[in-house]
Amino acid sequence: MLGVEHTVIESVDLETDGRGQEMLVAQVRVKAGAARRCSRCRRRFPGYDTSPTPRRWRGLDLGTTPVYLQATTSRVTCREHGVVVAAVPWARPGSRFTTAFEDTAAWLVCHATLSVVAMLLRVAWRSVADIVTRVVADRAATVDRLAGLRRIGIDEISYRKGQRYLLCVVDHDTGRLVWAGKNRTQETLNRFFDDLGADRAAQLTHVCADGAQWIHDVVAVRAPNAVVCLDAFHVVAWATEALDQVRRTMVNRLRAGGHHDEATALKGSRWALLKNPPNLTGDQRATLAGIAKANGGLYRAYLLKEQLRAIFQAVELTDARALLGGWIAWARRCRLEPFVRLAKTIKNYQKLILNAVEHGLSNARSEATNTHLRLLTRRAYGYHSPEALIAMADLTRGGLCPPLPGRS
Ligand SMILES: [Zn+2]
Repeated sequence: MLGVEHTVIESVDLETDGRGQEMLVAQVRVKAGAARRCSRCRRRFPGYDTSPTPRRWRGLDLGTTPVYLQATTSRVTCREHGVVVAAVPWARPGSRFTTAFEDTAAWLVCHATLSVVAMLLRVAWRSVADIVTRVVADRAATVDRLAGLRRIGIDEISYRKGQRYLLCVVDHDTGRLVWAGKNRTQETLNRFFDDLGADRAAQLTHVCADGAQWIHDVVAVRAPNAVVCLDAFHVVAWATEALDQVRRTMVNRLRAGGHHDEATALKGSRWALLKNPPNLTGDQRATLAGIAKANGGLYRAYLLKEQLRAIFQAVELTDARALLGGWIAWARRCRLEPFVRLAKTIKNYQKLILNAVEHGLSNARSEATNTHLRLLTRRAYGYHSPEALIAMADLTRGGLCPPLPGRS
């Protein structure tokens, strides 16, 4: 019932805490065979000393009652790691929670909102973040996430209101996050290629990245065989941003002219403009039709965004090339400043965009991962460190979610 192995349960008692909450406290000790092992390398060594005061670990609730394991801890003298805390079979080193509790929490984080996790398990968000960091470190040590990579996407993702960045590498074929590091610098990207190694980097066939030249420079040196592409996700994101700028300018202009009702109506049109057409609701379709009638400039911006998205659906490269050329010509003379500027950018990256179309690299899986990572960074969890944020991304998108304890 406690979900522990290699553990002797000496007694179980009900205690009541200061607030009248009952809890179950199991007095346990490590079975002889699992005792006196270094918590870092798991090898067996002579004992060093034993702590005079017992320590408690939170376990999974039994019904509605919180459960704690209580044991005295000891230290061993490891030949490699010196005097270290001895491993206990029921918990990860340094944790105040049992492994079963931590795996359950990590699994829940992958499948439910954090407020649900915190309420169900009765833990603070900060504890959840620490748990996720430990579970990810534990599981990452057992798998090689960089094996077999062929097509990857490299992405800069901002957090803390755009003040800080993570560099994320996604496997284009599985949609999995395979590597993440803090800061968007050449040094960070070089660290990824160091981890990957020259042999595996030579196996990369395609690298998708946003428009950042420094990424392209590093890739050219470290993955010389890869075709560099600019994928749909980033290009459409640029167009979406340009469209939003056009809309904001028009809202401000209406306000300045005293047309407050029209300004408010246009402000409410944001989602109708930004959504993919198949996902529009009836009301949003009506909003768009209204914009087409009353606001030619904004509707033109909308069509420009949609047309650019359509280029990535072209099957033939020649079609895509013609469409892209036509788009650039149209955007240049559309008299909407953000799109005139975008036309210049797109022209610069024409070749990389067509690379993505040619190699069919508009991948829904990696886009879903990108969208998820951006959502993750936007939520106000107050990540106390980039490492905590990376662990959360690795857990939920890196294939490191543990199985639920007790289900095989
Ligand atoms: Zn050791």
